[in-house]
Parts: sequence; structure tokens; C-alpha cells
Amino acid sequence: AFITLEGGDGSGKSTQSALLSEWLTNRGDTVLFTREPGGTELGVEIRRLVLHAGHVAPRAEALLYAADRAHHVETVVRPALERGTIVIQDRFVDSSVAYQGAGRVLDPQEIASLSAWATGGLRPSLTILLDLDPRVGRERMNIGRGSYDRLESEQLDFHDRVRAAYLGLAEAEPERFLVLDAARPPEELAHRIRERLAGILP
Ligand code: C5P
Repeated sequence: AFITLEGGDGSGKSTQSALLSEWLTNRGDTVLFTREPGGTELGVEIRRLVLHAGHVAPRAEALLYAADRAHHVETVVRPALERGTIVIQDRFVDSSVAYQGAGRVLDPQEIASLSAWATGGLRPSLTILLDLDPRVGRERMNIGRGSYDRLESEQLDFHDRVRAAYLGLAEAEPERFLVLDAARPPEELAHRIRERLAGILP
């Protein structure tokens, strides 16, 4: 099974990914937790370039994320899935459709096609969307781990577009998505995720 977590900055993806991986491991499942951007050595370099190397033109940004994803899928994710490992992944294609497509106002359809090409059409079995008002997310980021260089310079309307795009994706594919209110307590969210997974995993 391939399970992805999506949501805005500060929505608690890392917390929920960690809780989920731990729960599955305790159940006796073989689990791989990974993330994008930065799930491979090449990806770490790409992550550094995109997030900390100053201004990147939107189309270049989209291609860099796609390159990271292509390499990650081919060298890490597919091999793990083929071994029967459950892959829990922090961010995937939906992030690009939301951030580069809606956020950077590139065509979301084109971003989806680029991602489909980059991944050879790999699709998650389940996508957990941690939905949160970007204002609350920003608060949490500033308190929790200091702020990103870029987050500071991005306006809230960018993050509002990202959030709306995520919700649109979830609405278009309700069977693939579990949408949760990320303002709820972490333990409650973890419980909802486990409930949903019980219906998917053997
Ligand atoms: O979730 P994570 O902390 O790894 O994300 C790092 C940053 O990269 C976030 O600020 C997120 O907004 C951005 N990002 C992006 N487009 C993507 C994936 C992440 O702008 N496709």
C-alpha cells in the first residue's frame, strides 16, 4: 500500500506520519517512511536548491520537484512497494498540483501531467489531507520550528490557493482521500487515520 499525507505548512503531516509509521510497525507491518522533497541524496540537494537558494522561476521550480519525485519513485518508492512494504510518504503529486499548480499559478492540469510522466503514473492507495487555515499553520510553524526562508515571503493568498486546490482534489477523488480537520488534537486525527486504514490493510 502507498499512503501519502498532504496539507499546508504546519498542518501536522510529520507528526501524523510518525504516529502512523509507529502504529503500523507495532502491528508487525514492514513500513517505509519517506518524504518529498528530499527522500533521496539527490532529493536533499534539490530540496536545498528549491527552498534555500533564493528565487527560482516557477516553471523551474515545478521541474525540480518533478525531478526529485521521478528519482525518488524509481529508486525508493517502487522498489519498496514491490517488496510488499507499506510506504508512508509525506507529500506527493498533490503537493505539486496545489503548490506549483495553484500556488504559483501554473496550469494545475499541466502540473498533473508532468507528475504523471515523472512517476510513470504511480498513484497512492490513500491520501490523507490535513486541512488547515494557513493562518493557523503559520502560527504553528513560527512557534514549532522557526520559519522557512520562503514562507516568510509568501503571502497568505498563496497559501489560501494551495488549500483550496487541495480541497478541490479531494472533492474530485473522494475514494482516494481522507480529509481531516488538522485543528483537531493529534491523537484524534491519528485515530481517524487508523480507522480508515483498517478498511484498506489486510
Ligand atoms: O513539507 P515540507 O516541510 O517538506 O515542505 C517544505 C516546503 O516546500 C514547504 O514550505 C512547502 O510549502 C514547499 N513545497 C512546495 N511544493 C511542493 C512541495 C513542497 O512549495 N511540491
